[in-house]
Amino acid sequence: MGSTERIRNVAKRVAKWARAGHQMVVVPSAMSGETNRLLGLAKELAPAKAAAAYNRELDMLAATGEQASSALLAIALQAEGMESVSYAGWQVPVKTNSAYTKARIESIDDARVRADLAAGKVVVITGFQGVDEDDNITTLGRGGSDTSAVAVAAAMKAHECLIYTDVDGVYTTDPRVVPEARRLQTVSFEEMLEMASLGSKVLQIRSVEFAGKYKVPLRVLSSFTPWDIDIHEEAKSGTLITFEEDEKMEQAVVSGIAFNRDEAKISVLGVPDKPGIAYQILGAVADANIEVDVIIQNISKDGKTDFSFTVHRNDYARTVELLTSKVVPALGAQEVVGDTKICKVSIVGIGMRSHVGVAAKMFRHLSEEGINIQMISTSEIKTSVVIDEKYMELAVRALHRAFDLDQPAS
Ligand code: ASP
Ligand code: MG
Repeated sequence: MGSTERIRNVAKRVAKWARAGHQMVVVPSAMSGETNRLLGLAKELAPAKAAAAYNRELDMLAATGEQASSALLAIALQAEGMESVSYAGWQVPVKTNSAYTKARIESIDDARVRADLAAGKVVVITGFQGVDEDDNITTLGRGGSDTSAVAVAAAMKAHECLIYTDVDGVYTTDPRVVPEARRLQTVSFEEMLEMASLGSKVLQIRSVEFAGKYKVPLRVLSSFTPWDIDIHEEAKSGTLITFEEDEKMEQAVVSGIAFNRDEAKISVLGVPDKPGIAYQILGAVADANIEVDVIIQNISKDGKTDFSFTVHRNDYARTVELLTSKVVPALGAQEVVGDTKICKVSIVGIGMRSHVGVAAKMFRHLSEEGINIQMISTSEIKTSVVIDEKYMELAVRALHRAFDLDQPAS
């Protein structure tokens, strides 16, 4: 919602659904750019590296973006002749833990909302925010209004949760990288979860986890269609995230290609190969609250081994420092080396469960492009490789073609 014009459009769309007989709860995110603007103001006043010290105030600040958009939407709905009421998270309440800037929803009280719905009102609840047990305002992390919406839908046992966003669905890959990328009509919940965690930015990963936990039927669709398109057409548009796998007759082996540049690789070289080294290295990293992704331990030579893993790029410097200052001396390892210019490219598909050779095909196509694979990790429904960042687009395009994602599904 970038302008009052857009807010009026949302109100008209919501009114259309409500007049068709649906009880509606709407969970807006802030007006576009507003969260960045607010957080930018804080940055002007205090150095970013002290941010953790004022995380509580950042939440207090950022939550105002959604409070404004929610009030404006309720006003616009009333102007459309609908009865409507808006609530901030704390008024519902949406209870969260106290992890400022990345809080998790613990419970949502549905009593007030149900009473309003029964009275014929459209209820607007701020996305992105909640309240902890000491009445502090919390926020759920960037993109968190997706999670708010799914959590509200779960609490209300909604028929469906529609996520209106700036793309018209979930694509086989990012269309900005591969123009031939296609919108998926359906995608299984498990695939969506993998894609979200592997770098697809369509939905906040926690919203997908929430949808899975409470089996909330979720549809991602465009907020840019005219508000007055046929409601039946709108109800079928976008991408539906499904829980029944055999719904699709012919399951594609690979449904999508995900990628991200958010990680960095770190290797500890010349580690004496004995029981407990993985624990000593990764235990220290975990104790510093640093999340580790792909892990590789090489075979040892002369009693020494190399140990590599990836972390988020934001944690790179901190991790190298921790390993160099503490872990390497304690282990008697040789040195720590790292590379931030890497990316992770993944193929995802539940069809991989019943097909052999999918990973091998991926590796073959990468080798045909002359792309060296640095690390590999697999799960039942995905294979990820870590490669040089400069080959990311080439790899994504080649794999998109290799797995027939350029072609419309038959
Ligand atoms: N306004 C918040 C953000 O920009 C939440 C959201 O948009 O989902 O991250
Ligand atoms: Mg968002």
